[in-house]
Amino acid sequence: MVFVRTTPPRPVDVTTVFPELAPLARPAIRLHPRPGSPSVGESSVGGPLLWPAEEPWPHCEASHLHVDSGFRQSPDDVRLMRRMQARRHRDHHGRGGMTPGEAALKERNAMRRAERFAAGPPPADCPVPMLPVAQLFLRDIPLLRPPGQADLLQVLWCPYDHDPDHKPSTALFWRSAAEVVDILAIPPEPYEVNDDGYLPEPCVLAPEAITEYPNSLDLGPQLRLMLEDWNRWQAAGADVDSSYADWPRDFYDIHLADAPGWKAGGWPPWGRTDPNPRYCTVCEVQMVPLLTIASFEWDGGEGHSWAPCEEQAAAKAGGHCCGQSPSRPTKVAVGSTDNMQIYICPASPEHPHTDLIQ
Ligand SMILES: [Zn+2]
Ligand SMILES: [Zn+2]
Repeated sequence: MVFVRTTPPRPVDVTTVFPELAPLARPAIRLHPRPGSPSVGESSVGGPLLWPAEEPWPHCEASHLHVDSGFRQSPDDVRLMRRMQARRHRDHHGRGGMTPGEAALKERNAMRRAERFAAGPPPADCPVPMLPVAQLFLRDIPLLRPPGQADLLQVLWCPYDHDPDHKPSTALFWRSAAEVVDILAIPPEPYEVNDDGYLPEPCVLAPEAITEYPNSLDLGPQLRLMLEDWNRWQAAGADVDSSYADWPRDFYDIHLADAPGWKAGGWPPWGRTDPNPRYCTVCEVQMVPLLTIASFEWDGGEGHSWAPCEEQAAAKAGGHCCGQSPSRPTKVAVGSTDNMQIYICPASPEHPHTDLIQ
């Protein structure tokens, strides 16, 4: 790993104030994806996968005919749009229009699109080649529990909306990196993406181990009441702004519970709905969070407290112009700028996974 990202210390040591929460501590690894050029041998978000040349690339077999033809773009067009946005941002909005390089890319994209149309049936009806979302090596993310000799997790999705919840459909692959000898050089790409937020920007990772506590919605009524008792906070001498006196539970949820952003393990984010436990369809045990695919690395306002120390200044400055937001390094947007949570069975990572939007 060539760079480091560090979560600032939490403003309050939660187990000092509430020792009752100590048994609920869970390890998580924040991935801290940042734009870069990951190789097939590195952990990444939206990067190239270490994929065996002899193994068929995963395709989504679902019917996409019901997908209403909204605003869709080819992956190449999304890349061009982002390149132009980044250039305008660098130029301080100096020039409109296209540079010669951008115009050439636009032309190339149009040609590719025409070729693809000429080649066969309506693209959305084909089995759709899936897009790389994340590749995680065990050496970087030691809390993964791969099956057998596997030491690598690969996550892909189909960039169309699927029922329920209008979300991409996900596929997980565990493999042993040493067994991949001939690497697939150029994987197929989907013809289009349902939403430009479904094309992750290639990012390298700076994994950071942290400890998380459950969102207050995940706690029983007694523990929830405990968090709402301002006297408990004061008696413990917790340095909490008195503006939270009426809502100390909010302070806990914003600053002390689960971290926002892409992460492995830990506690799930809730708020869009009440907690919705998932059960394995094979052995019926309660499933555990494997990976959070996030629209934002940190929230606005006080949520800045989760922005890494190295980026606090950028987080506070905002800088949301030209689609360049420091809190959206992956450019991924799922749901209404929510999180997609992938769950696996704790008994066997090979039992079918499930996912939900939160
Ligand atoms: Zn699909
Ligand atoms: Zn199971």
